[in-house]
This record gives sequence, structure tokens and C-alpha cells, in this order.
Amino acid sequence: MKKKNKETAPAAAPGLFGEIKPPPAPARKNGLLAFSYSKLSLYEECPLKYKFKYIDKIKEEPKFYFAFGSAIHAALEFLYAVKAPPFPTEDELCEAFGREWNLKSYLEKGYRTQQRSDDDYQKGVLMLKAYYAHNRACFAPPFLLEYSTDVEVDGLLVRIIADKIEYQGGGRVLVTDYKTGKDVKREPAQLYMYQKITEMDPRLKEKIAETYGERVSSVRISKMLYYHVPSNKEYPFERADDREIGGFWERVLGVAENIRGLKYDPTPGERQCSWCDYKSLCPAFFGGHPPPVELLKPAAGENIEILVDRYGRLKERMDELQAQLDEVAASIARAAKDGDYAGSQYTAQVKKNSKWEFKDREAVIKVLNQFDLYKNALTLTLTGITSVLESAALPEEARKKLLEQAVKKTGTEIKVVKKEGLI
Ligand code: SF4
Repeated sequence: MKKKNKETAPAAAPGLFGEIKPPPAPARKNGLLAFSYSKLSLYEECPLKYKFKYIDKIKEEPKFYFAFGSAIHAALEFLYAVKAPPFPTEDELCEAFGREWNLKSYLEKGYRTQQRSDDDYQKGVLMLKAYYAHNRACFAPPFLLEYSTDVEVDGLLVRIIADKIEYQGGGRVLVTDYKTGKDVKREPAQLYMYQKITEMDPRLKEKIAETYGERVSSVRISKMLYYHVPSNKEYPFERADDREIGGFWERVLGVAENIRGLKYDPTPGERQCSWCDYKSLCPAFFGGHPPPVELLKPAAGENIEILVDRYGRLKERMDELQAQLDEVAASIARAAKDGDYAGSQYTAQVKKNSKWEFKDREAVIKVLNQFDLYKNALTLTLTGITSVLESAALPEEARKKLLEQAVKKTGTEIKVVKKEGLI
């Protein structure tokens, strides 16, 4: 077992610009460090990302896949939350999903358009109907549902949340975790965490006694199950042996020790940085700018399939950002008049404008030829044709015919500048 650091934060030290404040201390409860599998995996991904999220408590952008997963979980929780049959009907299950789904707008859920959100809603309904049909013959009230517990161990207060726990007698339990992503990959750290904490949890023994009248000296996980809802496939995992759990726990204590020691150095990498919401705050991410192109070159060994996927991911992000940009620009256009505006970090110059667009190029050429105006347009660009249309000398008949081909579009030009002194 590793030696632990003292739990006091470093004292404030004088710096060039006055007192340097020490970084905020990690969250503790009764001197215990609050911990979980999510915290472990985020710290291992990038300690600075962990700090932004859990210490500085800077909110991440909502992610649509989390919103989708939690609505499916909520619906399944509703389905099994009965003490005895009958279970809710398929329609009631879908209604529970819809209720959860409608608690947030598509933007709050992390979708870039209403349409995408609606598509996923339909996907969720079909998924739940398939789940219902596949499992209805063996519906049984579980021992525990969405069971959340905090267990004290080695100076940590470790939280696990189990989607479903079934009791098999003799202190043995089966833990199910619902997965709603594209595919299922074994996450040993998550399995080990469930096993370690479930078996140490004193409340579970009490709950077994309360529910089944059985007094057990210990609780033992017999099996863990990942249930992949999109495919209705089960992925069972055997109980880990003591050596595996021991190695895993050393890893947990190592991470906890680093957190107590306020070690939050960034560990940049393509995988973790590409989905990180804190890039603009991260000194390792080139002061908030994308890394130079040469650093984005694929590593040796990357092949065309990898590049295609990478291109697709980048394109998707670009489309997503473009859609968000369009939406914010439209809101500014609605809220602002021509003029200068200032936020806390940026200033913006807003200018409304309008321009002509011409539907049918051939028809426009015909009108220009008919009235011998072709040469006045100089070139057949939008500017050339617009200057003919807006010329005071244009015969009324020609103006009328050109206007039949024209549509006036109004737009808003927004120029933003970052305020001085901000990076
Ligand atoms: S941008 Fe990369 S290095 Fe910086 S915090 Fe995010 S994951 Fe870590």
C-alpha cells in the first residue's frame, strides 16, 4: 500500500505579482477524498482535465450521448421499479422515456439541431420496444435499482452507482450495467471498482436482511453483466481474483495520492484533447489554439481507414460548431441593432445588410441582352448585375423583368474582436 501525502494544501507563497493562491483543494467529506470510477478514469486521461472538471467545477458542454443514455436508463428504472408484477406496459415504458427526454431542450441535451434530437428520440423508442419484446418473458423485480452507495476505504469515500442488482442467495449478487453506446468494450477498472466496493459495502448486508430475511456474513459478486441495450446482447464477466483487485487498488491509491498532492499536469494527446471542452483554458493546448499542423500529422503506421475516421470526426465537429455559430448569429441578429456591443471577453460590431440573389442565370442574361444592358454589367457577377439593377438610368420595364428573377436576402455582419489583455 502506498504512503499517503499530508492532506493540507500548500501555504500561499509570495510571487512577482503579489500573493500566489494555491490551487483549490480536492473535495473532502470528513477528511475523506471523494472518489469514483469516473474520477479515476478522467484523472488517468488527463490530470488537468480532472482539475478543470472536479476541482474548478467548470461545466463541460452537454453531450448528446450522455443525454440519450440517461433517458434510456431512466426509462428502464421506471420499468423495473415495481415491487411485484404487473410491470408497466410497452407504451408506459415509452412514455417514461418521453417524459425524461422532454425535460431538456435539444441544445441543453447537446444536440446541434432539433431534427437530430427528434431522430434520437425515435431511435430510443424503437430500442426500448425491442428491449421490452426481448425481455418481457423474464421480467422480475430486482433486489436493487440505481443503487448508489458511498463506502469508506483507505481514506477515500468511494461512490458506485449500480444500475441493477439481483440477489442470488447466500450473499451472492449479480450486478448489471446498462450500456447504450455504439459498442461495448470491457472496462476492467469499472468492473474492479464495482466488485471491490460492492463487497465492502455494509449497507448491502443490511438490505439483504431487510428484503430477504437472510443474515449474511459477507456479500460476494458472482458475476457482472454489461447489457448492451441497442443490440440486446449480454456481456458477462467473471469475478476478478484477489491479485487483480489488489493491483487495481494500488492504482487507485496512486491516483488519490496525486490528487491530494495537487498534481494536475496536463497530458495532451489526440484522443483526449480532441473531445476536451477545456482546450481554450489549457496551457498545453497551445494557449487555446489548435496545435501546429505538423503536430497533427498522423503517427507512423496510421492507415487510410484511420484517416477517414479522423476526417469524419473532424468534419462532424466542424458541422456542429458551424450550426452553433449560425444559431448564435441568428440570435444576435434578432436581438441587436446596428452598433457596437461588448461581452466580458469580446466586442462585436453588428451591421445589418441586404443583398440581391438571382434565381436563374440564363433568364437574367436574356433580360440584359433584350435591353442591351449586358455591357453595363461589366462582368456577370452578383455585384455587376446588382449595379445594373440599382442604376437610376435603368428602364422601368428592364427593372421589372430583372426583379422577377431577384430575391432580396437580409443578413447581419458580425465582426468580433477579443478584448485586449485576454488570451
Ligand atoms: S486540452 Fe488536452 S491536455 Fe489540455 S486539459 Fe484537455 S485533455 Fe488535457
